[in-house]
Amino acid sequence: MIQLPCPLCGLRSAHEFVCMGEHSERPAQPEALDNAAWAAHLYNRDNPDAPVLEMWWHLHGCRSWLRVRRDPHSQNILGCETAGLGP
Ligand SMILES: [Zn+2]
Repeated sequence: MIQLPCPLCGLRSAHEFVCMGEHSERPAQPEALDNAAWAAHLYNRDNPDAPVLEMWWHLHGCRSWLRVRRDPHSQNILGCETAGLGP
């Protein structure tokens, strides 16, 4: 079972969280993107078999947004921090 070390709540079961997928930095000038580039930013992810930075939401806890570094191959959690998008 995957457990996440929420910085605010401590070690919790992944069942308390919603994984929102791979983190993607917002473009500096989104208004400069055409529709295809904006759609690619919103929906296209690399899905690597290597450690990845993901956004998780602690739905059944503190309801904070977290940036989680996870190895999808081993399922090991390599790091977790608040994303500053709190409730
Ligand atoms: Zn929490």
